[in-house]
Amino acid sequence: MNVIVAAKTDVGQVREGNEDSYLVNDPLFAVADGMGGHLAGDVASSTAVEVIESKSSEVSADDPETLAGVLRSANQAIWEKAAADASLRGMGTTCTLVLLDGSRVHIAHVGDSRLYLMRNGDLRQLTEDHTLVARMVKEGRLRAEDAERHPQRSIITRALGVDAEVAVDLDTLDLEEGDRLLLCSDGLSSMIDHGSIGDVLRNEGDPQAAANALVALANDAGGEDNITVVLLDVTERPLEKQTSPAATSTPSPQRAPAPPAEPAYARRWPRRLLWTLLVLAVLVGGGYLAANWAVNNSWYVGVDADDKIGIYQGIPEEILGMEFSDRVRTTDLTLSDLPENLRDTFVDGRKVESRAEAERVLGDLKDRATDFEEIKKKPTSSPSPSPEPRRSPNDRPDKKGDGKQ
Ligand code: CA
Repeated sequence: MNVIVAAKTDVGQVREGNEDSYLVNDPLFAVADGMGGHLAGDVASSTAVEVIESKSSEVSADDPETLAGVLRSANQAIWEKAAADASLRGMGTTCTLVLLDGSRVHIAHVGDSRLYLMRNGDLRQLTEDHTLVARMVKEGRLRAEDAERHPQRSIITRALGVDAEVAVDLDTLDLEEGDRLLLCSDGLSSMIDHGSIGDVLRNEGDPQAAANALVALANDAGGEDNITVVLLDVTERPLEKQTSPAATSTPSPQRAPAPPAEPAYARRWPRRLLWTLLVLAVLVGGGYLAANWAVNNSWYVGVDADDKIGIYQGIPEEILGMEFSDRVRTTDLTLSDLPENLRDTFVDGRKVESRAEAERVLGDLKDRATDFEEIKKKPTSSPSPSPEPRRSPNDRPDKKGDGKQ
C-alpha cells in the first residue's frame, strides 16, 4: 500500500501559542498534544516528536513492541527535562503514533489524541481516550452521549512525561484500499462531533482540502484549543508526485485487530474443552505442530507462584499434568495490589487475543492498582467519592476552563 499524506496544525481562536506537535516521517506519523504551564506543553510535545524521529531506526514492523519502546523513551526524556527545570515541572503530552507496514498499520497511543479510520463511509475511532470521562463511561458511571460535552472531558489520565513509567496502548490493523486514517489532537475532536468529522472525510476527496476543512470547522465552532490533523489516504495505486517515498510491501499474514476486551473467562469452559481435545489429538496423533501453533498463538495475563502478574504465551490450563505456556514478561504488580473484584479473573489466567492486548490489560491493571492504592489511603474521606484521585498534581488541568496558554 502507498499513502498520500496531508497535515495541518492551527493555534485556534483562543490560545496564544500552539502546544501541539506532529510528525510526518513516512512510515511514522504522530500527533502530540502538550500540556503544562507557559511553554512547557510545547516543550513536552516537541520533545516527544524529536525522540520518535531520533529513534525511528529502532522501530521494527516485525515487533510492534518497539513502537511502545519509542514512546517509553519519549516519556523518559520529558520526565527528565521536567525534573531538571522547575519551569517545566508537571509538563506532559499525549502521543498517538502510527507505523505503516505495507498492508497493516501499527498503533501506539497514550492520552486523548485520536486515531480514526474512515472505511467504506463509516468513521470509527480506533484509539481509546485515556480520560476521566472515558473511564466513567467504561465503568457505566456516565452515558456516552453526556461525555462529549462533559466539563471535565479534557482531564486525561495518562500522558507522556508525568511519571517515570507509562503504559502504552498497542494495536495493529489490516488496511484496505481507500482507507483514510485521521490522527488529531482533541482541539478537533472536542470542537466538532463525530458526525461532522465523518461528513468531511466522506465528501472531501482531496486529503489536504479535507485537513483544511476539518481545522476550519473546529475554528468555526470556537477553536478553543490548538487543532492538529494528520490525514493518511491509503491506496494501492503507485504515487506520481508524492514527496515522501511511500512504503510498499508484500501483503503480510492476516492479523485481525484486537477486539474490544471481552471477559475471556466467560468463554473458558468451551475453550478448555477444545484445548483438551486438541492436546489429546496431539498425544494420540503425534500432531506436535498443531499444539505448537496453538501455544504460539495464544496469550494470557496471569500470575506466578509469588502472585506476581505477568504476560504468558500459551494457554493457562494444565492438561494431563503438563503446562503449555511460557512467561514472557513479569511485573512487580501482585494480586493483592488489585481491587478484590478483579483478582479472580487473573488467578486462572485471563486470555487475550494478542501480545499487544496483553500489554494493554497490564497497563489498565497498573492504573487500577494505583487507584486502589489511593482509595486505601483515604478510606472514608469524602461522601462523594472523587473518581480520579491518582497523580493529581500531574493530571492535565481542564484545558478548556483554565484560560492558560
Ligand atoms: Ca489539546
